[in-house]
Amino acid sequence: TRLLAEVDPEIARAIQDETRRQEEGLELIASENFVSPAVMEAAGSVLTNKYAEGYPGKRYYGGCEVVDVAETLAISRARELFGAEYANVQAHSGSQANMGAYMALMKPGDTLLALDLNSGGHLTHGSAFNFSGKLYKAVHYGLTRDTETIDYAQAAALAKEHKPRVVVVGASAYPRIIDFAKFREIADSVGAALMVDMAHIAGLVAAGLHPSPVPLADIVTSTTHKTLRGPRGGLVLSKEPYAKTLNSQIFPGIQGGPLMHVIAAKAVAFREALSPEFKAYQKQIVANAQALAEALQKGGLRLCSGGTDNHLMLVDLRPKKLVGKVAEEVLGKAGITVNKNMIPFDPEKPTVTSGVRIGTPALTTRGMKEAEMATVGALVVEALDNASDEQRLASIRGRIQEFTRSFPLYASRLK
Ligand code: PLP
Repeated sequence: TRLLAEVDPEIARAIQDETRRQEEGLELIASENFVSPAVMEAAGSVLTNKYAEGYPGKRYYGGCEVVDVAETLAISRARELFGAEYANVQAHSGSQANMGAYMALMKPGDTLLALDLNSGGHLTHGSAFNFSGKLYKAVHYGLTRDTETIDYAQAAALAKEHKPRVVVVGASAYPRIIDFAKFREIADSVGAALMVDMAHIAGLVAAGLHPSPVPLADIVTSTTHKTLRGPRGGLVLSKEPYAKTLNSQIFPGIQGGPLMHVIAAKAVAFREALSPEFKAYQKQIVANAQALAEALQKGGLRLCSGGTDNHLMLVDLRPKKLVGKVAEEVLGKAGITVNKNMIPFDPEKPTVTSGVRIGTPALTTRGMKEAEMATVGALVVEALDNASDEQRLASIRGRIQEFTRSFPLYASRLK
């Protein structure tokens, strides 16, 4: 067997370079994380070779008895982790989990009510650029100007006016606790189903650090690769009555053969998430977000809604006279990875923005704690305060390389 470096030196180099980039930089993208070597091993296994259309015990291919073990474990662990009656672990991504859920709850042309993309919602929550906005009639609620938190009254009023089939709850850039019970009431008041997309906060929910939507929602969707720290992928949970239709909407509805290597890796991640160490990890994510928020505010930045309850914060850059596009580039030069993000009522375009989104799941995985967050916050502020000083940014990058060496990640994989 020839090794990757022999077969394809260019890709081998790209993987080495990416390993080094992850190792030597500060990863602050709120939706990213670093999986364990165990998760990585399962994801890179021979299970990638297997076709397994169908579900455990009911496949359309022979030879599925072994992958059935993996999928059955993934399902039972996901159910245990979230206290769910039903779990489907086949969705290739969060977007496909949402597509499967919508297909189970709506027909094309039906109305969904969800958080606006510019207020922190996700593309799959009815954006005109996405299948969800093309197949369904999307109505959007937003945030209140004064608190920059979800405008529940507006959501209730829009529900009354538009009588949506589904009320969608969940966000990609929302730093506060979401009141799922209030949304259950809103959905019930108009006879709508409640779907919660907990992609960002799934790890916090699993650890009991954010109220769980599972007992309240008809269907809960998630990704497995954010706070949950599994492989890239999707997950659908529900009450038993939706089991049959959800299974058939995912396969054969929107997907063919499941990615068995990814499903095995999800099973490993769920097992890890059931451990006491995972609870401690999630607690540290939140503590680190608090510490980082404080450091950024101390450095003169404004945080939307005044702070954070979860793993992420939305930074308003206007006090520094910077836009998100520039800040993302500047921080990149300093070895700090973030993404530009719209802030509530942002005057800038989505390609420019007035903010950046910052999260702590990835750095927390590296073992960083509150003291390191103070350092990281100070480095972010130093870079933003010296946005046009290339030498200073290079110096910060050097210091970060040194700093990250004490928190090794995949260093042993570097050649
Ligand atoms: N839902 C939410 C709330 C998300 O933040 C994301 C990821 O960005 C998704 C769904 C989509 O997940 P994926 O990128 O796996 O399709």
